[in-house]
Amino acid sequence: MEKNSTPNKKIFILEEEKTLNWNEVHAAFEKNFGKEVYSSWLKNIALIKEYNDYLVLGVPTRFIRDWIVSRYLDKVLEQVKYFKQTLNRIEFKILEDSKSVSPGHYKEELGKITEIKDSILNYNRLNPNLNFNNFIEGSSNKIALTSSKKVCEQLSRYNPLYIYGGVGLGKTHLLNAIGLELQEKNNVMFISAERFMYHFIKSIKKNDMVNFKDFFRKSSVFIIDDIQFIRGKEGLQEEFFHTFNSLIEKSSQIIISADRAPTKLDRVQERIKSRLSGGLIVDIDIPDINLKNKIINKRIEDIQNQFKENCNLSQDVINFISNECKTNIRELIGVLNRVIAFSRIHKKNLSVSECKNILKDVFNQTKVITVDKIQNVVSNFFNIPLSEMLSQRRSRPLARPRQIAMYLAKKLTTRSLPEIGRRFANRDHTTVIHAVKTITRLSEKDDEMKKNINNIKDLLIEN
Ligand code: ADP
Ligand code: MG
Repeated sequence: MEKNSTPNKKIFILEEEKTLNWNEVHAAFEKNFGKEVYSSWLKNIALIKEYNDYLVLGVPTRFIRDWIVSRYLDKVLEQVKYFKQTLNRIEFKILEDSKSVSPGHYKEELGKITEIKDSILNYNRLNPNLNFNNFIEGSSNKIALTSSKKVCEQLSRYNPLYIYGGVGLGKTHLLNAIGLELQEKNNVMFISAERFMYHFIKSIKKNDMVNFKDFFRKSSVFIIDDIQFIRGKEGLQEEFFHTFNSLIEKSSQIIISADRAPTKLDRVQERIKSRLSGGLIVDIDIPDINLKNKIINKRIEDIQNQFKENCNLSQDVINFISNECKTNIRELIGVLNRVIAFSRIHKKNLSVSECKNILKDVFNQTKVITVDKIQNVVSNFFNIPLSEMLSQRRSRPLARPRQIAMYLAKKLTTRSLPEIGRRFANRDHTTVIHAVKTITRLSEKDDEMKKNINNIKDLLIEN
């Protein structure tokens, strides 16, 4: 492995095998995840117990743990591995009643640490609030909704059912609804591809693959969310392929979601793409005004029932919100909650201009794009560890993303060429110039490159 680029660090690790300097790890988190992510999610991670091959970390709440695990786990592990190579997994313990946790100083006996099986079960838990009853139909999701319901009526009719669409459009909600509907009579397994991988790796390290295989293959309904996560991960694809085949063989129903169509899953084996396309493929589109208004009205109704008080928003305000939240239903609901909270506190009907005022910072956020952020987004986009992208290795799968990141840093930040070079593991400014030239040239003549660059720019603005 060529992950450790600083030889001194290696010697340091060998000499002091056991003790991580937790403050140092925190500093690395802050540097590599960026201030915002760090202070929102990672700041309170405490080191509870350190073993040679794994760490027990404490976080304040279940919610924070789930958030970290679902979004940052790979990277957190990667970062701690940098300081201690022998580490290969992380367990989380929830310190629910601790008010504040200062890094490294948490003393409590090691109670019930989530073990493999428990934690699979934990993540298998369906959310009772995401059901068919409160999923609102619109022209953008009608086919996906109907197909989901049909699957529940008659198993194996469409196998697999593959639902795809952009962020916040209701994929997880639908998958969860299917799970709820079927769980009474079937052995339902509901897991995100990321969690699947987490358990996969954990089982390999624990030499417990038999259990892992059994566990997933005994389900009669297997629901896997965000399958795009397997892109570029060969071992995981191999395991997924076999799980998939043995489930289909015994006529288990499989339901899959992704952010793109099967044919668009780059760096996924052809045989898997063909399996994924073997049943019914449906997409969820961007919601129209009509659907957005319906969702808002339903939400207002729910709140009125719940709090037994009026919460009137004028049609103008509703239209305003629908218009501003173009694509993402999750965002729409977030904005609506804010407006409703305000109007309840102040007990008044809001005008559109008051509404604008409340939401000013939501809509007019001037996004600051930093080199850090570009590096993170690009390495995520190409599914390569940040450390590899910044390393000295020159293989194409690393060099191209690196060049793209340099190109974007030049285009989207005010940093000078030498500054950018320094941020890329101390490279010379001529390397940056070369990268900018190469990517400019490629993006002019290569459609794939042009599309990738645009997608990455979208991600940078979105995040
Ligand atoms: P995705 O998995 O596609 O990113 P989610 O399923 O997490 O999106 O949906 C985001 C939020 O929007 C959730 O709170 C979900 O309940 C809500 N939502 C999405 N579509 C609908 C819909 N048609 N009706 C009601 N709520 C919806
Ligand atoms: Mg989702």
